[in-house]
Amino acid sequence: MTAKLSDTIAARRDELIALTQDLIRIPTLNPPGEHYRQICEFLATRLKRHGFAVELIRATGTPGDSDTYPRWNVVARHEGASKGPCVHFNSHTDVVEVGQGWTHDPFGGTLEGGRIYGRGACDMKGGLAASIIAVEAFIHTHPDYAGAIEISGTADEESGGYGGVAYLAERGYFDPARVQHVIIPEPLNKDRICLGHRGGWWAEIETHGEIAHGSMPFLGDCAIRHMGAVLEAFEDKLYPAMATRHTDMPVVPYGARQSTMNINSIHGGQAEQPADFDGLPAHCVPDSCRIVIDRRFLMEEPLEQVRAEVTDLLEALKTTRPDFDYTLTEINAVLPSMTDRDAPVVRTVAEAIEKVIGRPPEYVASPGTYDQKHIDRIGKLKNCIAYGPGILELAHKPDEYVGVDDMIDSAQVMGAALETLLLSIEQADVSAP
Ligand SMILES: [Zn+2]
Repeated sequence: MTAKLSDTIAARRDELIALTQDLIRIPTLNPPGEHYRQICEFLATRLKRHGFAVELIRATGTPGDSDTYPRWNVVARHEGASKGPCVHFNSHTDVVEVGQGWTHDPFGGTLEGGRIYGRGACDMKGGLAASIIAVEAFIHTHPDYAGAIEISGTADEESGGYGGVAYLAERGYFDPARVQHVIIPEPLNKDRICLGHRGGWWAEIETHGEIAHGSMPFLGDCAIRHMGAVLEAFEDKLYPAMATRHTDMPVVPYGARQSTMNINSIHGGQAEQPADFDGLPAHCVPDSCRIVIDRRFLMEEPLEQVRAEVTDLLEALKTTRPDFDYTLTEINAVLPSMTDRDAPVVRTVAEAIEKVIGRPPEYVASPGTYDQKHIDRIGKLKNCIAYGPGILELAHKPDEYVGVDDMIDSAQVMGAALETLLLSIEQADVSAP
């Protein structure tokens, strides 16, 4: 890395802090998807000043999009002095609900002890800010670079990315002819490269019964007891089978290196009454019980097998339990994604981490999915990683924060990677003081 770029990034520390704080102070809560337009305009104004051509794109008609909560995205592109590859930094702008237990203002962006606090500080406005500072410093230092740089701020990652990266990918924004390298600055820590993620399969299962008076349950058919049998089958057969399967993917934390399944919710019988209702329940046999399952699977498990394992258990209950009947509705399915360890963006960022941090990176994969799925499956672009500052375990927690030193180090790594990808050897002049 050139000393000139490294010094420029280090000198922009206060600017990086201010930018992170400004981003945190726009409360882009999802759901429902608030202030997307505002954050896109904020980014557009800033990046236009630095010579970017900027597009604001509304993902009209995607889940959650309405005139009250429009799904706005921003894509900014800067052209170098000559032809070359395009490096794209993609960050989601949405943050999850605040929750309880905060000691800092979740939208205040307080700077304290070298940390900036706020909802989205680590996931992932700190990463967005670090990438912007790295890119602006690179353009300032090397105005003659070859190629192009893009920065996007996209909606709805926390709810599947359909109003964000998926929408853009469907419209060719991640076509490998247009973009060659993608870095997603999610909070994986400054010395780790995230190669991809496990798959996910979400489904609702409903068991059916028959309503009757609660004093004569034998005249009806209890849907909740049927669901109890489903859960028992999961405990006896599915969970032990999943526990035997381990992946070669470097998933962290280690517990997620096997197949997992969460029972997300359960509802049966009468609807819950409002908290201020103080009446008594009526006596009925429930005719419906529903659960939502969240099944995460490995590269080694075909999606068909994941589905069949659950439906086989349900079909078996039909033969062993009188009157057992169910409906299974698939909610969503996402295939696993893994970028090759010797893909160009992986090798480049790995070298940059060694230069800046002084040790080789750790390669990891994410237990949950993120927007790489759309860049891979819809965009058909395989040269994509997640790399950015922040501690993954702080994401979505109270008192979420990002460390300023970590952001600077990550920005240095991003800057060093840009020099490798977009400068010829003479331009880089690595020996310059
Ligand atoms: Zn995130």
